[in-house]
Formats: sequence, structure tokens, C-alpha cells
Amino acid sequence: MGPVDTSACVHCGLCLPSCPTYLVTGDESESPRGRVVLLNQLWSALDAGGSGDPSAVRAVDSCLDCRACEEVCPAHVPVGHAVEAFRARTVQAGHRRLPLSARQAARYFGTERGLRRFQRLAGWSQRPSGRAALRASARVGGTLGAAALLGAGLPNMEGSRLAHEGVRFGGEGPRVALFYGCVMDSVYQATAAHAADLLRLSGYRVVAAPGQACCGALHTHVGDTGQARAWARRNVSSFEAAGAEWVAATAAGCGAALKEYGHLLEDDAARQFQATVRDAAELVRFGQRPPLPSRSQVVAVHDACHLAHAQGIRQEVRDLVRWAGYTLVEWPDADVCCGSAGLYNLTHPTMAEALQQRKVASLPVAADVVATSNPGCLLQIQAGLRRAGRPTPVAHWVDLVWEALQDEGLV
Ligand code: SF4
Ligand code: SF4
Repeated sequence: MGPVDTSACVHCGLCLPSCPTYLVTGDESESPRGRVVLLNQLWSALDAGGSGDPSAVRAVDSCLDCRACEEVCPAHVPVGHAVEAFRARTVQAGHRRLPLSARQAARYFGTERGLRRFQRLAGWSQRPSGRAALRASARVGGTLGAAALLGAGLPNMEGSRLAHEGVRFGGEGPRVALFYGCVMDSVYQATAAHAADLLRLSGYRVVAAPGQACCGALHTHVGDTGQARAWARRNVSSFEAAGAEWVAATAAGCGAALKEYGHLLEDDAARQFQATVRDAAELVRFGQRPPLPSRSQVVAVHDACHLAHAQGIRQEVRDLVRWAGYTLVEWPDADVCCGSAGLYNLTHPTMAEALQQRKVASLPVAADVVATSNPGCLLQIQAGLRRAGRPTPVAHWVDLVWEALQDEGLV
């Protein structure tokens, strides 16, 4: 894989205040502008047969791939893709090993059997022996401690169904198939079932798309383009075979990755597929139905980076939550990364924790519930609130809207 063109960068620095790692460190090398300069130096070193200055590699690797810089950049410099391309090249050149978390993710998320194994592991983490192991691991700190804190926040899973086994298919209208994703499929199955109900109510026919795989976002971010491409090809075929007019994602990270399959696979089938992908918040519409009665809870929305920056979706989630009867309170820095960023909170636990603390510290006191649209953010913010001694629950917006509909007897 070759470098991504960043020559349009005019070094204006407009991106600096949007960059989460720069906000934490104040270090130019950990800003988008700094990384553009470092990437040029690193590609030259690679072309000369070297592996580049280790401190420059670390500064590039501390990028969250959150795309906040791209949203504000007047020259549309694709910093995220540039960082991904660099990581992929260094993996291919043998200069780095994939992180253990990425290798484990490939093991669990590629097949239904693997997802069920992951689900059993997640289920064990909720039993007394699992809880004790997580508490002990959390004290170790680092990657193991971060994983344990996230694991402690997993929901109580009912049985061992995967998402597609709980979805009620059918309805009238354009054919929409849900993209389940790895964590949503194995852990947050109820959210997928609820999303299907919201889509049916919005006038879609929900159809199955068997054989789908992980979206590959986690692997693209760490440089494992080969794995990401293999899964992308499988997904394109599965949804094509399902005759889906629309593909609905409930995880922001998945949706953003699916919308970039044209870039990843560079073929027409992938470009046609990506044109059909929408986040569920773009498809769920209640038309002429009047808003639901007011509810007592005040909701603060966290904008997942891959929803807000990569897909430009912010207002849709707020409109749906408000329509369902909740009161909204604006969260300052609602779209600043929480530190989750795929596997980042496992590969860079110190920076991820700094961002997590920053995030929960700015949560308005009036908030009774946090709504988000990405399972990684959900777990990361939940763990941060627990660490900060705040019991505020965190939920997917789909579940909040579904609960309100259920209370009115509409689902
Ligand atoms: S990446 Fe964009 S916003 Fe940042 S310094 Fe370069 S041109 Fe300016
Ligand atoms: S993608 Fe995010 S972390 Fe990386 S340089 Fe841009 S704003 Fe900073």
C-alpha cells in the first residue's frame, strides 16, 4: 500500500483545537498538522529501506483515527486514511506486529462460531468468578486493566442468541437489512432487535442478510488491511444476495467503515454497496406520527466520532430522542473522542484514560442518561463514569427510543 496524498495541507493549524490527542498533550507532533509532516518523513524513511524514527512512529500511532481534523480542514486533508495507510505499510514491511487485541478480534469476530465463543467469554465475565477476575485485572492497569474495566460494564445477556436470532423480520416497504457487527451481534443483540422494530415502524421491510462478517474497521485502523478486505468482500456478497436496497448500521464505527468499502476494495461492487449504507438514525423516521408523551429523563447525547466526523450525523439522533419524549441537555464537547476508538483504549490505555476522564468530567449534572450510537463509546463512557463514581447509565439511542415506544404500546 502506498502513501495517501496529504500535499494539500497548508499548515494553517485550524485542525489543532479539534484534535483530541493535541488537546491532551499540547504537543505539535500529536496534532494533525504535526502528523502530516511526520508521515512525509516516515514514508521517505520506508522508501529508503528503514523503519523511521521511533518517536515519530509513536506520535503517528497515537492518532485515534477519529476524523475530527478532517471535518474542519479547509483543504480536506485525509489524515485518517494517511495514518491507516502508514500502519498498513509497516505491517506489510514486517516493521511491526499487529496488537494482540487485533489478533484476538480476528479470531472471534470472523465467524458465527467465533462470535458465540466471544459471547460465552462475555457471559462468564458477568458471573461471580468472572467479576472477581475482572476486579483483580483492573488493579493491574495498562491494557489488561482497561479491558477489565470495559468488561465490567457488559450488559446482562439473555441466553446466547446472536442478534439475527432475535430480530423480527418482515414489514412493508423498501428492503432493509441490518448490519450486525461484532460486539452488537454478540453482546448488544437486543439493540439490533429494537432497531429492526424501529425500521419496520418507519415503513421498511426488514430482511435477513446471512453470511455477513465483521465490518473490518478495527483491522483497518491498526493496519491489517488484508483481514479488513476479506471481510468486506464477504459483506458485499451477503447484502447483494439478500437483495437489500438499504443496509442499516447501528454501530457508528461499522457504518463509517461500510461507507468506505469503495476506498478499501476499489471496485464497482463495493462502491454500489457503500451507496446503500446508512446509519439507522438516517433511516428511522416516524413521519406524521405525533411525538411521544414527555418522559422524566434528561438525556445527554455523545456524538461518536465515526458518526459525527466520518458520517456528518448529529442532529438525527437528537431529533429521534426528543421525538420519543426525552428532554435533551447539550454536552459541551459532545463530539470530542471518549478514547474508545476501536481497539485504541486497549493499545493506548494511558491516552484513552485521559480522554475518558475529560469526557465524563464535562457531562452536565442534569443528565440522567447518556445516549450514544456506538458500543465502544458506550462501554468506554460507562467505565469512565464508574471510575468517577457517577452512576449515570449509558444507552444506545435505539434502545431509548424503543423503550418509549414500548411504554406507549407501539412495539
Ligand atoms: S490538516 Fe488541514 S486544517 Fe490541519 S494544518 Fe493541514 S490544511 Fe490546515
Ligand atoms: S484523526 Fe483525530 S487523533 Fe488523528 S490527527 Fe485527526 S483529530 Fe487528531
